[in-house]
Amino acid sequence: MGRGTVTLDAATRATTAPAIQVEGLTTGYRRGEPVLRDISFQVERGALVGVLGPNGSGKSTLFRSLLGLLPPWQGRVLIDGRPARPNPDVAYIPQRETIDWDFPVTVLDVTLMGRYPRLGLFRRPGKADRELVLWALEQVGMVDFRDRLIAELSGGQRQRVFLARALAQEPDLFLLDEPVSGVDAPTQHFVFELLERLCRQGKTALVATHDLSCVAQRFDRVLLLNREVIAYGPPQEVFTEALLNRTFQSHLLLLRYGDRVIVVEGEEGDGRSC
Ligand code: ADP
Repeated sequence: MGRGTVTLDAATRATTAPAIQVEGLTTGYRRGEPVLRDISFQVERGALVGVLGPNGSGKSTLFRSLLGLLPPWQGRVLIDGRPARPNPDVAYIPQRETIDWDFPVTVLDVTLMGRYPRLGLFRRPGKADRELVLWALEQVGMVDFRDRLIAELSGGQRQRVFLARALAQEPDLFLLDEPVSGVDAPTQHFVFELLERLCRQGKTALVATHDLSCVAQRFDRVLLLNREVIAYGPPQEVFTEALLNRTFQSHLLLLRYGDRVIVVEGEEGDGRSC
């Protein structure tokens, strides 16, 4: 293969590769005890994808693999055609429980953190970075709160700030781990609207959530996960009683209502946000 061909292939890959390509991924934390087994799925650019499974099914572990923080034992994980690695083009919003809310930082400080992956080691945020941060806060309706301490905010307001931080990073891919669990209904609605809008603009989002009815209404694809891929496809194909039962097993109560299946799952997943 000539050098010219190699260059062309690299350029083509950057523009046409799927946003996410996972092929035969097996990985975990302790050797011999895989958490995820033989996972394969592909996400096209601009897709809004829900990741659904009971607690402990490996959703966060999958995100760690996509972030390049957990190496594959087998198979491969490609982001934009390249092996996953920590990368400013991928923004991650962790579960709320994993964040120390008492830390004395303002809304502006937290949002500005979104710029750090884009700054060099010694570069300080400049005027353009600050403008971008204010734009991001405006997108989530929090610009008037910019000087408030994060500890003073409600759960829903904090979640908006973490979305602003992700927006300020200017990523191509958003990974959100249960972004609406435990936040107020208007914020839940707002988060899903924002994600839909971002994906229409060509961004890609993978969202771990328990909110099945929102996913059914708004998402392009669903990955049903329980240590392995139970199903992957559009919600209308994947949300069958048999597949949901296989995914959630005893964690879920399925109620038949005419030709519809209603899902009742613990305290969440009652669909009040859509
Ligand atoms: P989910 O996000 O679906 O609740 P997780 O990916 O957090 O699932 O967890 C899947 C499994 O991996 C669980 O059995 C959990 O105990 C295990 N696990 C998660 N994180 C770690 C870790 N850092 N070290 C060891 N085991 C872990």
